[in-house]
Amino acid sequence: MAAPQVNQPNPDALIVIGGAGGFIGGALARYFHEKGFQRIRAIDKKPLPEWYQRVPGVECLCLDLSEELNCRHACEDATEVYNLAADMGGMGFIERFRVECLRSVLINTHMIEAAYRAGAERYFFSSSACAYNTELQKDPNVRALKESDAYPAMAERGYGWEKLVSEMFCQEYWYERGMKTAIARFHNVYGPLGTWDGGREKAPAAICRKVIEAKDQGRETIDIWGDGTQTRSFMYIDDCTRGIDMITHCDDLIATPINLGSSELVSINHLVDLAEEIGGAKLRREYQLDKPQGVAGRNSDNTMIKQVLGWEPDTPLREGLAKTYAWIEKQYTDRKAGKRTVI
Ligand code: NAD
Repeated sequence: MAAPQVNQPNPDALIVIGGAGGFIGGALARYFHEKGFQRIRAIDKKPLPEWYQRVPGVECLCLDLSEELNCRHACEDATEVYNLAADMGGMGFIERFRVECLRSVLINTHMIEAAYRAGAERYFFSSSACAYNTELQKDPNVRALKESDAYPAMAERGYGWEKLVSEMFCQEYWYERGMKTAIARFHNVYGPLGTWDGGREKAPAAICRKVIEAKDQGRETIDIWGDGTQTRSFMYIDDCTRGIDMITHCDDLIATPINLGSSELVSINHLVDLAEEIGGAKLRREYQLDKPQGVAGRNSDNTMIKQVLGWEPDTPLREGLAKTYAWIEKQYTDRKAGKRTVI
């Protein structure tokens, strides 16, 4: 296999990251900082004290990126722009707040134009597996989704359609205007410093928290949304940041949506088994069939990423979940003690 063409910017390049007060954007700011980049501008609409992490030496701005002028300010002198900003959450959020999800189209629309006007060399967009045709995800024994499965389109209402439209913006900014764009379709990302409570959290964090709560409160039961047979794959955050970097800097992937996810398919029941094993608990499961549960099954087909980059996200779920569980447990005890935590 020929090595992919990967072009790293020089360490003085200005890297702009939208949504850096959140989980993945914050981790990406840290990743580039640790890689030696000197000029990173991190932006989020959340007030600075609410950011999940702030990396020393990184410029942090509180701006609403759904406003055009703010995007222009954010992208000034940018060499590379990474858009991780979106109004999003787990199934409970995206099934209930479709308008908010759709409105994230404003963020990408203004950010990509601002990046282009600023003469940025590369632009990254965080898409999602929710862009895939839902008709192909009705069976828990799902065939893994490959990149061409997004069309004919029947994306997740609201959130998924916003991702598809924003992907198209990225493609056209390359075809019509020559700006190099990169598009990764993330499949469930989890890890420390992510949302773990409050309604926007995703399954791995929610399940770890429920096991921790049950142990702490002496309860013997755990609530599971759906019947537990739904299947998914979960990607550890370190694989996500590494993948974003590789995809963005690979010229063979310009304007080409690509899966960025783990291919280790598990049922929600298995996820609960793992969290229980890590926490040393055994709980009676109470299945809540009226709660949002999303598609029946979804997995990432990694043929393309392996072919082009010679790599795929490979942190075993058991390993990543143990780190996530330990972090949430600490958050939980900190919160109980009245200390400031990430939610
Ligand atoms: P997150 O909610 O932790 O971070 C998103 C951040 O965007 C938040 O801090 C939020 O305040 C910020 N934001 C929202 N609207 C904004 C605005 N108008 N201006 C500025 N900032 C704004 O979510 P995340 O998990 O880090 O997700 C990052 C990206 O990855 C999103 O585009 C999301 O759709 C995508 N994605 C995430 C997952 C996942 O499993 N976490 C899966 C698929 C796709």
